[in-house]
Amino acid sequence: MSGEKGILVYAETSGSDIHPISYELLGKAREIAEKLGMQVWSVILGSGISEKASELIYRGADKVYVYEHEALRELNVITYKNLLTELAKEIKPEVFLIGATPWGRSLAPRIAAALNTGLTADCTDLQVDEKGRLIQVRPAFTGNLLAYIETVSKPIMATVRYRVMKPAERDPSRRGEVIVRRPENLDAGGVRFLGKVAEREVNLPDAEIIVAGGRGLKRKEDLKLLEELAELLGGVVGASRPLVDEGWISKDHQVGFSGNTVKPRLYIACGISGSPQHLAGMRNSGLIIAVNTDPSAPIFRHADYGVVADLYEFIPKLIRILREAKRRGRGAN
Ligand SMILES: Cc1cc2nc3c(=O)[nH]c(=O)nc-3n(C[C@H](O)[C@H](O)[C@H](O)COP(=O)(O)OP(=O)(O)OC[C@H]3O[C@@H](n4cnc5c(N)ncnc54)[C@H](O)[C@@H]3O)c2cc1C
Repeated sequence: MSGEKGILVYAETSGSDIHPISYELLGKAREIAEKLGMQVWSVILGSGISEKASELIYRGADKVYVYEHEALRELNVITYKNLLTELAKEIKPEVFLIGATPWGRSLAPRIAAALNTGLTADCTDLQVDEKGRLIQVRPAFTGNLLAYIETVSKPIMATVRYRVMKPAERDPSRRGEVIVRRPENLDAGGVRFLGKVAEREVNLPDAEIIVAGGRGLKRKEDLKLLEELAELLGGVVGASRPLVDEGWISKDHQVGFSGNTVKPRLYIACGISGSPQHLAGMRNSGLIIAVNTDPSAPIFRHADYGVVADLYEFIPKLIRILREAKRRGRGAN
């Protein structure tokens, strides 16, 4: 090794696509690396993914390690853990970042344990303090306060939530080094991939428009109202946790601290009070509209537009107006 110090970013893949969280991590890694005089390294594993390495360089990596093997098409957590642990032992990054996706959350603690280092899970920010230390920020006490964490063991390992950081700008003029490795004996540790049990019902983190419902809804069937509005707007339905706990809607739809972090262009919160745990998942949305009968509901302090109204009156009216506008729009064409 040349003695260079670096930040290693694991580039998650789904099929042969790079998960967008990788670009968010690279953006943050670049920012930290510039402050601390380090390099940004990235690692990607899969089958037929070598040509993806340049994309990681365009997004800020100085060096990309590619592990190519047919068997890596399957997300086997033991195989991935072994290869990533070996790499970390070899190149000794100062910092190792992984996305806090379901896959990253499964992978990261195994690597941290194998490296005998600490792991700060679910970070919402990474900062460099005035002494040049990396500080990991994450919600604590169920989202009521933010913890600022310094890790003393190396590498400093963190998982970072999806959609909380700005993705790195793509710069096709960037140049970097690509190191392709073709591992031979992949040890799956006795784990065999049998297939996917279920697909996610909805991809909430990537949704551009979300119509979310909370305990202001009286019955499960009333979610239809929100589905209708979401469909008209080209969006999807989100929910606060009590609706999920009641079994009215699946956890894939949950927004908040123990659910999804979302960043849509438009978030309509219907009958949601705005608890810190809910806000933790949606406060970075573009435009927030809140509909609530209680003018003192905390959600109004975070909303761009607040509608003090009964959702059972307001939402059907809004649906009617939108339908009418759509009908007129079609008539004009
Ligand atoms: C460890 C932990 C993790 C958690 N994680 C999450 C999480 O990820 N996401 C989450 O959402 N919560 C989470 N919670 C729960 C959280 O603390 C709140 O209990 C929850 O967010 C409240 O949901 P709500 O706003 O739908 O319900 P409420 O707080 O009961 O609010 C209902 C709102 O509806 C309004 N309303 C009533 N009727 C109408 C009507 N007809 N029209 C319009 N408005 C009406 C009321 O004025 C009220 O403001 C978590 C809690 C813990 C302890």
